[in-house]
Amino acid sequence: MASTMIDQSVCQLLNHLAEGAITAEALTEACLNAIRRLDDRIQAFLWVDEDGALEQARTIDAKRRRGEPMGALAGLPVAVKDVLCTAGAPTTCGSRMLRNFVPPYDATVIQRLRQADAVLLGKTNLDEFAMGSSTENSAFQVTRNPWDLDRIPGGSSGGSAAAVAAGMAPLALGTDTGGSIRQPASLCGIVGLKPSYGRVSRFGLVAYGSSLDQIGPMARDVRGAARLFEAIAGHDPLDSTSVPEPAPTLLPLLEEPVRPLTIGVPREFFAAGLDAEVEAAVRDALRVYERLGARCLDVSLPHAPFAVATYYLVATAEASSNLARYDGVHFGHRAAQFHDLIDMVCKSRGEGFGAEVKRRIMLGTYALSSGYIDAYYLKALKVRRLIKNDYDAAFGQCDVVMGPTAPTPAFRIGEKVNDPLAMYLSDIYTISANLAGLAGISIPCGFTKANLPIGLQILAAPLAEAKLLRVARMFERETDWHLRRPTMT
Ligand code: GLN
Repeated sequence: MASTMIDQSVCQLLNHLAEGAITAEALTEACLNAIRRLDDRIQAFLWVDEDGALEQARTIDAKRRRGEPMGALAGLPVAVKDVLCTAGAPTTCGSRMLRNFVPPYDATVIQRLRQADAVLLGKTNLDEFAMGSSTENSAFQVTRNPWDLDRIPGGSSGGSAAAVAAGMAPLALGTDTGGSIRQPASLCGIVGLKPSYGRVSRFGLVAYGSSLDQIGPMARDVRGAARLFEAIAGHDPLDSTSVPEPAPTLLPLLEEPVRPLTIGVPREFFAAGLDAEVEAAVRDALRVYERLGARCLDVSLPHAPFAVATYYLVATAEASSNLARYDGVHFGHRAAQFHDLIDMVCKSRGEGFGAEVKRRIMLGTYALSSGYIDAYYLKALKVRRLIKNDYDAAFGQCDVVMGPTAPTPAFRIGEKVNDPLAMYLSDIYTISANLAGLAGISIPCGFTKANLPIGLQILAAPLAEAKLLRVARMFERETDWHLRRPTMT
């Protein structure tokens, strides 16, 4: 029963919960059992709140028995990337720096999950401060891909992606600064939605690149992701970058196909470096849309080849500023021994941060330093604008843009750890959406011969999540890639 329960979709689970066919407690217990059975091999969770989750579930069951109105996710367990503040529960950001940090407050998305009567299962592993594409940069553990335990799950939301793919949680939250929801979703065979910039409040998200960061849902299907998105989206006065509009109502529209549908296919998304099996699966997916009546249109994003370079200036510049607060006084690890204040800050930061985070702080500090800011940071901002202009022009001709989410399927653990540039290139197709503030999603669209998942990326104009999800759902209704499960589960 336990495994059949977690094989069900979010919509089925919500129906069973509403009808009383299952209880939140039994569903939570099923997830905890899956974690007990699988997570010593997968290592998706940094912290599991066994008692707390069961207690929340019982409270929700009791509320339902009393006939009170229930929240939109009532009884559904959700795993949370450990970069989101959870009151009274550890929030490490995958860093030694915050190993002992317990926030005194909840992020807005966590509060909204509680209001929606979701059950918070625990915190998932990530690359340190969300910097990475493989989850190997975590200070604590390497998460494995449930489809092949020798491979990475993608990153930085690799723990959330692996947890959902393995059936340890029906839903998870991730964050996406340059691809960290979509790329691991693609590599783990699940759905990951990066909402438009400003759509989901980031109050209580530990900041990485503040002009790029977004929080979004990860689920096994589009409908599940849409449910979670609806619960967390919408204006929040506590985040000054939050768009002053209520959460869009999507669910009643989700099953309506977008007609007519014009799909922009950028030639830059099928360039050298794209794995042949990934390309074939994505082209097959485009044919599915054509069968459904869509028109595919060649579009060009001429500045796309500069996206990775631009991103690694903007993101690192912002990170160098955001991470200045970890000095052993305001926040973070403090060295045990030091001579004076400067020595204390140097030692604390030296001990607390891992190699990739240090690399980024140095790169960003350099790009912002006097004498170089014009040549690097300010130049990058200009290219960012050109990238955005390319998308504005494309969306003048098409409803959505499609291509691969990642250039390759999941790579082997250790394969790219000593080659930062190769690692950075795994976000080549996802990064520009963050630079341009777009909405983007990755959905399962096939498998390689070695049985590794492949993701289709769909991008839409800022705040066009409703259209994006409807288009994604059109594909899901026609195909069954999202129903495949890794054999180890
Ligand atoms: N892999 C990219 C990076 O390392 C994106 C990370 C993210 O989206 N958080 O910055």
